[in-house]
Amino acid sequence: MTLNEDHPAVPLASLRSVSRQYGDLSVLQDVTLDLHAGEFVSVTGPSGSGKSTLLSVLGLLERPSRGQVCLHGQDAWTLPDRAQSRLRGEMLGFVFQGFHLLPELSALDNVARPLRWAGVTRVRARERALHALEAVGLGARAGHRPAQLSGGEQQRVAIARAIVREPALLLADEPTGNLPQAMWGEILDLFADLHARGHTVVVVTHDPLVAARAQRHVVLKDGRVVEDGRR
Ligand code: ADP
Ligand code: MG
Repeated sequence: MTLNEDHPAVPLASLRSVSRQYGDLSVLQDVTLDLHAGEFVSVTGPSGSGKSTLLSVLGLLERPSRGQVCLHGQDAWTLPDRAQSRLRGEMLGFVFQGFHLLPELSALDNVARPLRWAGVTRVRARERALHALEAVGLGARAGHRPAQLSGGEQQRVAIARAIVREPALLLADEPTGNLPQAMWGEILDLFADLHARGHTVVVVTHDPLVAARAQRHVVLKDGRVVEDGRR
């Protein structure tokens, strides 16, 4: 079937009139957003504008107070727990500002962990983890523990862990935030490369240079989308 105006593609992910409150603080207010396969989106806005909350809600880590989160057209919070976990595990990859690697495990075992959780055999998980580490240029460092790696390398391990299950949607929250500026380029190149290889990428950032690498720019202010532009 050919896609055209009359048969638009189902968005990969959408927020429909999503609000999130903490007590009487409205952190997201009536946010509606469609993310389509193949997009590379930046989310910027002042500190406290709701960027991290937006990402957590998109990634099903937080439940909205109102509104719907749809993944592949399915209203994710109406699914039974197990179906929702499966959807999250298969479809979403997360990269956080603090890399959240387990210090006692090698890079390879950190990356293999989500696969082991998903029931993949140890041998196969390690093969796929090595492949993901190679994709981020760290094949030769697979046996190193996090403390033996630079900050940029640790973040690349975290990115390998996020992509090892080949998620359709990669969500990154200030992925360069804990790194010296000299290392930002290598991380951004990596996201551009993952995007070129078919991942849909959403990067939250406060840095305009980071945002400049994306093709669509969403700006939040006080929990609302105040700009949403494509280049
Ligand atoms: P950003 O990532 O843009 O800096 P956040 O989404 O982290 O913004 O937070 C937006 C607002 O929500 C902030 O005012 C923050 O203090 C508040 N907030 C975030 N998480 C919680 C929470 N778990 N409980 C209470 N308030 C929170
Ligand atoms: Mg944040």
